[in-house]
Amino acid sequence: MGSVSTTKPGTGWEYAPAPESREIVTIQREYNLFVDGEFVPPATGEFFTTLNPASEEPLASVAEAGQADVDRAVAAARQAYDQSWGKMPGRERAKYLYRIARVIQERAREFAVLESLDNGKPIKETRDVDIPLAAAHFFYHAGWADKLGYAGFGPDPRPIGVAGQVIPWNFPLLMAAWKLAPALATGNTCVLKPAETTPLSALLLAEVIQEADLPPGTVNIVTGDGRAGRDLVAHPGVDKIAFTGSTEVGKEIQRAIAGTGKRLTLELGGKAANIVFDDAPVDQAVEGIVNGIFFNQGHVCCAGSRLLAQESIADSLLDRLKARLETLRLGDPLDKNTDIGAINSRQQLDKIEGLVAAGEAEGAQRWSPPCRLPAKGYWFPPTVFSGVSQSHRIAREEIFGPVLSVLTFRTPEEAVAKANNTPYGLSAGVWTEKGSRILWMAQRLRAGVVWANTYNRFDPASPFGGYQESGFGREGGRAGLAAYLDG
Ligand code: NDP
Repeated sequence: MGSVSTTKPGTGWEYAPAPESREIVTIQREYNLFVDGEFVPPATGEFFTTLNPASEEPLASVAEAGQADVDRAVAAARQAYDQSWGKMPGRERAKYLYRIARVIQERAREFAVLESLDNGKPIKETRDVDIPLAAAHFFYHAGWADKLGYAGFGPDPRPIGVAGQVIPWNFPLLMAAWKLAPALATGNTCVLKPAETTPLSALLLAEVIQEADLPPGTVNIVTGDGRAGRDLVAHPGVDKIAFTGSTEVGKEIQRAIAGTGKRLTLELGGKAANIVFDDAPVDQAVEGIVNGIFFNQGHVCCAGSRLLAQESIADSLLDRLKARLETLRLGDPLDKNTDIGAINSRQQLDKIEGLVAAGEAEGAQRWSPPCRLPAKGYWFPPTVFSGVSQSHRIAREEIFGPVLSVLTFRTPEEAVAKANNTPYGLSAGVWTEKGSRILWMAQRLRAGVVWANTYNRFDPASPFGGYQESGFGREGGRAGLAAYLDG
């Protein structure tokens, strides 16, 4: 399967295929759970299959953790907390985190290929974004481990204990790094539950953790579906829950742990506004819009899924955007020229198709560039809806796919009102030449992150998190450390 330009056949300039070799990574036929420093078979005796979403080819059988497995993992984490990791000085913990970071860098190509195979995202994203950022998170937090006493948390900040961490499928390794690195830097031990459709990079990370020689039980990885996540959340031996995923499950978790005294951080959905004023640098804004919603097939919680264009430039901006979208290349995630990869699962594709059908039924105008979709696998073309009104489902609900809803505004006040007219509040983008307007907007936008003249920029030093139904608590930076410290 090659990568094909979305340009009309015959009118575009075709690239030769440039596939990354999948030989660099050895995928095992079967994966066990990672508990107490070892790979162990699940007590359930059950396994599930993880697929390559670009081809529907089975990649591996992965252990299905049950209650007894979660019990074992939490007991191992408790023991490591009480006997080794929890007692270790920060400067010693730092050495292990540096080691993990370095091994991720050394094995970066292996991680990048594995992530693209299991998730469907383009290799240029795993290679240039997911994997380097995952290593950066471990490097950054390694630097903090011996400095916590000087960071304004008091002279002797204490960890919370055992952290139960549940992550989604959109950035599998990166989300594991976001969860594990701050927890470990602050002296907590962890039980991590990866998403059912993307467990493989977390299991490769388990090998890295073995290679880095962390005390057994410091990190445990239990694979399985939502039931394993539920068991972990409900487990009385867990002191803190960190969750990234849907708002619906986030609410369920909040209900499940109410009154238990467990600490909780939730990083949930979003419906961000990417706001373009008439004085914006148009070419950069078009790139920012594309990056905002088509990066990672739009499977991004902070995706700029609502474009708010100032009315005077809306038509010309849309024309430029459409011309740019005709050059995007959709296809084989392992091809280095691919811009848009596969949708992660059949279930997610169904959800995208359902919301797109609702957009058409409600009267918005749907547009996609001419696009040949591969015959096998889960695919959706880049899609733009114009004529969207605020009441449309495609303007309100998180689609989590390569679908942009375009709305217009006349004044900055109207832009702010429309941007904030959402139950979410994770991120926003502002495109304008005027610095004063950026500050004016940033003060009024109810979003955890506001990007100015850029979009989807991430750095381990920068806190990330939401308002309202996008969750609470911050990940990254000093604020992210606070979420793993007692008090
Ligand atoms: P979920 O919120 O269901 O999944 C996130 C993680 O939680 C997965 O590991 C999942 O396991 C686990 N999980 C599921 N149910 C429970 C539970 N009751 N208790 C504890 N853990 C649980 O997201 P989905 O993958 O089902 O995606 C559904 C929608 O959520 C998407 O269409 C998208 O709109 C949104 N989403 C948002 C994300 C974000 O970052 N904001 C990330 C992912 C999804 P399992 O993989 O087995 O389901």
